[in-house]
Formats: sequence, structure tokens, C-alpha cells
Amino acid sequence: MRAPGSIPGIGRLIGELEALAQISEAAPPVVTRIVFSEADMRARAYLRGLCEEAGLSLSQDAVGNTFARWQGSDPSLAPIATGSHIDAIPNAGLYDGCVGVLGGLEAIRVLKQMGFKPRRSIELVIFTAEEPTRFGIGCLGSRMMANALTPAKARALLDKDGRGLEELRAQAGFTGQLESVAVKPGRFHKFLELHIEQGPHLEAEGLDIGLVTHIAAPASQRIVIEGEGGHAGGRLMPGRKDALAAAAELVLALEAAARSTGAIDTVGTVGVCDVFPGAVNSIPSRVAITTDVRDIDRARRDSVLDALGKTTEAVAARRGVTITTELINADPPTTCDPEILNALENSARAANKKYKRMVARAYHDSSFVSCFAPTAMLFIPCRGGVSHRPDEYASPEWIGGGVHVLSRTLAALAS
Ligand SMILES: [Zn+2]
Repeated sequence: MRAPGSIPGIGRLIGELEALAQISEAAPPVVTRIVFSEADMRARAYLRGLCEEAGLSLSQDAVGNTFARWQGSDPSLAPIATGSHIDAIPNAGLYDGCVGVLGGLEAIRVLKQMGFKPRRSIELVIFTAEEPTRFGIGCLGSRMMANALTPAKARALLDKDGRGLEELRAQAGFTGQLESVAVKPGRFHKFLELHIEQGPHLEAEGLDIGLVTHIAAPASQRIVIEGEGGHAGGRLMPGRKDALAAAAELVLALEAAARSTGAIDTVGTVGVCDVFPGAVNSIPSRVAITTDVRDIDRARRDSVLDALGKTTEAVAARRGVTITTELINADPPTTCDPEILNALENSARAANKKYKRMVARAYHDSSFVSCFAPTAMLFIPCRGGVSHRPDEYASPEWIGGGVHVLSRTLAALAS
């Protein structure tokens, strides 16, 4: 392949990224593209057009996941797949997700132009609704492919206006049975996702590529503590059932449990604390907190939840308060596929790119694809680590480097 930085078509790719960014619910440079919005539909049509121009054959599933296939010489073999998402949270930029979709398409076009003939088919995937904006649940399309969200639960999803997934997907033209979205292991032989880092490390260290070895995943809970309110002066300390004092014990217990694993990858956070009635002279009677615990190791993450659960019981008994815990989600951490990582490393070396192995701290469609296919990710730098903002930026060199490594790796895996 060609020398780094001289990928044919990088100007074409940058132009397409910029054109896609124009398809937005907000005035440029702000990108807002909520799933099944008019902008999302136009963006999907734009992508389908580019895929057809590239000679790929298109299919879509019942929730709108889109597959663009370059048929290999042995169609009986499961394809190598790559892709990401094109939906964007309100007030976002133009690289998150889109680099993995348009960059994946560019990698395929480069291979075609070079006359490469894949043995395995290569598939570009555009996942529906990686962002949780509309339905409050992230990675909708890949989650359903992994059957980590059942069709029954998907049918119950509503947006803030009370419009359901069923109504919205039908209006968008996706009408099949939701039961048909889940795929079997073997649907993809391997899957890899190109994505901006959304953190500062690659740029700060002067690196071109991050090879993602693990994707951390969160478990989050809502914990409600019911105590007894009263006048802050009239009620003396003996016998008080202060819900906030009980919550404070839980906050510190979570911090201690996350530290106690001794692993740098274990993190625990309480980011919400609602105090009722919230008056300076009133004992808190009801407090709701949320906990977010993340790790790359599921057992270790769940051990933090167990430790917090034990403290919760002890605090409830000792203080005479009622504590209820609701698990909001517990998503699977991912260990990336060593074979793909080796192929990526060989490609990065051959392309003369500076790289390191690293952990992804935010989750991605890859998290769910890894439930049914060997998966890995490659990161490229983004300026200042900024993402989910209009000033998100990745340079053409960074993007070109990522596409170069991706195309070499697709070729190696599909041969
Ligand atoms: Zn993303």
C-alpha cells in the first residue's frame, strides 16, 4: 500500500464528513441528528447513495441498522465487518461515529481501487441510535442485534413526547418484526470499529493510533432512601432518621469499595443527589442518589455493587431508614479480540504509525457487537480530547492514518 499520508481520496472523505455535518437539526457548525428525525433520514439517504456509488449492496433490519456489503469470492464465509453510528447528540460535532462510518467506506473504496479481491465479504455497518438521546438507552441498534434488549422491552420505549419506537421506526420505513433484529454468533467473522478517542491521551503523547484492548462498561443504580423529616430545631438528635446522612454513608462506601479493588480501571461515582424537601431548616426525609460503577472486568465491577449492597442493608438497619435499590443498567465490559489486535498492530507498523494499546472508557456499539462476534476498536486522536461539542476536531492526517490502518487490517482479515 501507499506511504502514510498519501491515501488517495482523503480529500473526498473529508468533504463527505463535512457534507454529512451539514445534515443537521441545528445551524452549522453544530451537529444535532437524533434518530428517526428528518435529519437522520436525510443522512441515511446520503450514506446509502455513497454506498451504492461504491458498488456495495444494501440491506436494513427492522430497527434501521444498515449493512452495505462488498461480496467476497467465497460468499459462504461470514463477513469481516466495520462501522459505527451517524446519530449525534444535541450540540455535537462531526467526527464522533461518522469517522467510523465514512472512514470504513473510504477504506473499502481504497481497497477496491487498488484491485484487492476479498475472500470474505466485507460489510460496512451503520448502527441505529448509538446515542441515548431519544429513547434514554444507548447503542439501541447494536444492543438489539446482541439481544441485550428484548423486542418486548424495545416496544415499550418512548421518547419525551410519548412517541414509541414502533411508531417512529414505522414512520421511518423500518417495518419488519423486531424479533428479526437479533443475530446469531457467526453473523460477523470479526468486527472492528474506527472511532475518535474522545479523550486527550493519544494527542498528548504524540501518537497516531490507539489499539483498544478493553472497553469499560457501566452499571448504574438508583437508590432511594426514605427517612423521617421534621423541624431542624425541634427534633433533637436521638432517634433521628435523616435520609441524607444515610445517603452520605453510601456515597463514601461506594468510593471506598471502588478504591478497594486496587485496580486503576475500577471507578465509582455518585453524580445525582436529590434531597427532599431541600430546606435549610428541615431534616431530609427522602433522598435519591444514582451510582455509576465502571470497570473492564465484570466480576470486579459487580464486586463493588455487592459491597455497596451490604453497606446499604447495614445502614438501613442501623439508622431505621428504608432503602430501595433499582438497577438501571449493567452493560457488559469487553475484552477485544487478540487476533484483530495483532492484525491492527501489524497494519499500524506497516503504515509507519505510532500507536499504543489502551482501554476505551466510554462505551460504543462495539461493546454489544462483542457479545456475538470477536471485536476490536482503533482510536485516532481528537484535538484536546474534546468530543460531544461543535468544536470536536480530528485532523485529516489523523483520519487518514486511521483509514490507512483500517484498510490494511480489513484486507488482512478478509484474505
Ligand atoms: Zn460514538
